[in-house]
Amino acid sequence: MNAQLMLLLEIQDLHLQRTALLEEPGLDQVEKKHFNIDPEVAVKALDKKISELKKGLDPGIQRRCERGLPTLGRMVVPVIDGVCYGCFVSIPTSRTGDGDQGVEICESCGRFIYVLK
Ligand SMILES: [Zn+2]
Repeated sequence: MNAQLMLLLEIQDLHLQRTALLEEPGLDQVEKKHFNIDPEVAVKALDKKISELKKGLDPGIQRRCERGLPTLGRMVVPVIDGVCYGCFVSIPTSRTGDGDQGVEICESCGRFIYVLK
């Protein structure tokens, strides 16, 4: 898998965890009780890690990532049987190989895509 895409997946994972910490009711209590983690500290640690990881992205991908992360939820999605799992639109199979530095983008929803065969 493309190194930039791997990085994006890591960033996405951290971001989803951050969102869960902030939004899921009761999760902060669970974390505090069972794992002895202060959610605020955890969110700060995640933020720090996310910005570190973002530095490894190519500028074009980084910009797209900044725009997409807060709104898209999942910004990296698989394409299975020619269908984007971000927007469930069929992507022509010929559409491979372009996009920013080899990372492909769904033309319909703008998410980063990777093709599962
Ligand atoms: Zn899509």
